[in-house]
Amino acid sequence: MAAPDTIATLGEAALVERIRQRAGGPPQWVHVGIGDDAAVYAPDRNALQVITTDSLVERVHFRADWTAYESVGYKAVAVNLSDLAAMGAEPRGLLLSLALPGAFAAGDFDALIDGVLHAAAESRATLIGGNLSRSPGPVVIDVTATGSVHPRKVLTRAGGRPGDELYVTGALGAAAAGLRLLERAASPAAELENAARECVGRYERPTPRTRCGLIVGRSRGAAAAVDLSDGLAAGVRLLAQASGTGAVVDASRVPVHAGAAKLADALGEDALRLAIAGGEDYELLFAVRPRRRRAFLAAMKRAGGLPVTMIGQLTREPGVWLAGGNDRSPLSEGFNHFA
Ligand SMILES: [Mg+2]
Repeated sequence: MAAPDTIATLGEAALVERIRQRAGGPPQWVHVGIGDDAAVYAPDRNALQVITTDSLVERVHFRADWTAYESVGYKAVAVNLSDLAAMGAEPRGLLLSLALPGAFAAGDFDALIDGVLHAAAESRATLIGGNLSRSPGPVVIDVTATGSVHPRKVLTRAGGRPGDELYVTGALGAAAAGLRLLERAASPAAELENAARECVGRYERPTPRTRCGLIVGRSRGAAAAVDLSDGLAAGVRLLAQASGTGAVVDASRVPVHAGAAKLADALGEDALRLAIAGGEDYELLFAVRPRRRRAFLAAMKRAGGLPVTMIGQLTREPGVWLAGGNDRSPLSEGFNHFA
């Protein structure tokens, strides 16, 4: 039996052709797509261009013995689309730059590309080009994503004011619980299998809140936004800092993911801590003026009814706090539960 193909035996030209075939024909606004020296595309009329980049590095951001390459490719795109969503931008072109060892299996290459294309298609983004190079060590997947947004509908971290309400989409802590489970290399008890699958799934394949960011941005229901890549505490701090305010988060309002709560119990972890300090949920945090609350909630509904929870406020008083009962403590990435 012949040895399976590796990317070294296939060579660069064949790999680019493989990507091009899997990607299919580009939309009209792409004048020159995959395979030339550079991509050429027409910007959306009357829109600003938004651009962001983020990479996944093997053994830093993922482990190939935990996660299938299809999911790794999916996540590499999803984390970039999450940043576009936080700006209120509509995704457009993606560039994919891969550094891969020569022994990387052709089947894994195809799976990685399929994951990239799957995440792109879900958010109506188009792979328009990229780069392939050889890595002497880890796999590095670098994605650049462009989007467009109407000039008056850009969401930034800096638009908040004291008195704004803080809202978070979805539920938090699942990705961190999933990662904890993978790290322990333990198989969960039978009654926890569903929770485990959900949490590991959230860690490996986060859903970018593309439609939500776009529709909330267009509604001008929110004054500021940030995506929760590094956890709620980090997100609140970044938004408050950029807005020149403080913030208070009410511990009892933080939406802890139900599966994460179950799993945390079994792992001896604090679920609220995972929800606040654990990262990679890729939910969105919005600051909303009280008088724009109805417009914001209506936009959330139009965006597909993703749950949204009011968790606190921006304050004139500096500092970022977690309040519970009559007690409060600094809301930090090194968050400790109330004694
Ligand atoms: Mg971000």
